[in-house]
Amino acid sequence: MIKTPDITIIGGGVIGLLTARELFNAGATVTVIEKNRLGQESSWAGGGILLPLYPWRQADAITRLTLQSLKLYPSLASQLLIDTQKDPEWTPCGLLITKNPDIDVAINWCTLNQIPYETPTATLFDGLNTIPNNPLWLPSIAQARNPRLVKSLIQDLINKGITLIEECELLDVDVNKNNITQIHTNKGILPVQNLIFSTGAWTGNLFKKLFPEIINNIPEVQPVKGQMLLFDGVPNALKMMVLDDDQYLIPRRDGKILAGSTVEYDEFNKVTTTTAKEKLSEFAYKLMPSLKDTPLINHWAGLRPGTQEGVPYIDQHPEINNLSINAGHFRNGLIMGPASAQLMVDIILKRPTKVDPKPYKLASH
Ligand SMILES: Cc1cc2nc3c(=O)[nH]c(=O)nc-3n(C[C@H](O)[C@H](O)[C@H](O)COP(=O)(O)OP(=O)(O)OC[C@H]3O[C@@H](n4cnc5c(N)ncnc54)[C@H](O)[C@@H]3O)c2cc1C
Repeated sequence: MIKTPDITIIGGGVIGLLTARELFNAGATVTVIEKNRLGQESSWAGGGILLPLYPWRQADAITRLTLQSLKLYPSLASQLLIDTQKDPEWTPCGLLITKNPDIDVAINWCTLNQIPYETPTATLFDGLNTIPNNPLWLPSIAQARNPRLVKSLIQDLINKGITLIEECELLDVDVNKNNITQIHTNKGILPVQNLIFSTGAWTGNLFKKLFPEIINNIPEVQPVKGQMLLFDGVPNALKMMVLDDDQYLIPRRDGKILAGSTVEYDEFNKVTTTTAKEKLSEFAYKLMPSLKDTPLINHWAGLRPGTQEGVPYIDQHPEINNLSINAGHFRNGLIMGPASAQLMVDIILKRPTKVDPKPYKLASH
């Protein structure tokens, strides 16, 4: 007979996978169920810049998780590589931000949060075509290659013996005295002890469907489509990530270059559009003219788990005793992921938290 796990995680994106890893490391037994294939949604589609865009313009709650994740990433990435032989390609290639009308605020933020910054030298702009306005060079900022990070995390969980069930969709729950006793999936009924929803963009709808009687304490998460282009460049054609207004280029180690991204409120529609392709390619060709000679090899869309301020929900549900939520990371799930997983597990295991949990509570949004 299969033993009921201590924790059942619904949703196998980067947030669910990191949370499973953290729980396992704390001694819990974990099962992850995923309605499609693990890590193929937003967590696959993103860019992997490990800093929010213009973090000084974001909520303080985003900064707190970012700073904690920045501490965790180097050892997380090297441990994953050692344990799985699959490299998440954590790469501290630096981030060049070409235009900073709010440079004083930016520098204050960097100084306060001990993020090294410099005025970029002219050579950093070699091959780029833009009109800089108070440009800023953040040499320590890294990227992770999303699909590789996800692959590495999945392998790590497999190595650890964690049960991962793909193509298994949570459809319904049985609740008795404010406790979920079992869940209904397309693969049958599963008994549960504790649950975590890390269901990304689907969290808001899922919650309303499963708990129609709950009026307050609903995670308001909605899908926000982001489209990306991929160019087949050569290594070092672009050495660092470049943020130019609200779009960016990200060079991977093998020379591939991503151009992103759009921000579209279009329900659960993941269809790519010619308009977005034109907009992103025009941006990319203008900023880096040599890309015109570089094959454009892919174009995709992902659904970010959007929240109003971009602040995720990381909380135990106040009305359903054995339900927790770790979702709603919007544009920054890769960077906030490790700290969010740590905070979720600290809360569940009643350990002291490294980050103040208050802003992430359902009631705080
Ligand atoms: C174009 C784009 C660019 C981005 N760039 C960056 C960046 O540079 N840096 C950064 O930090 N972040 C970035 N992001 C954001 C980041 O990708 C997301 O915040 C992050 O992936 C969210 O992870 P998640 O696990 O919550 O969601 P997801 O990866 O979407 O995972 C949720 C999972 O839950 C599953 N699920 C849903 N409902 C059910 C159910 N009923 N039963 C079972 N499973 C279910 C889904 O199938 C899905 O696999 C970007 C996103 C996009 C789209």
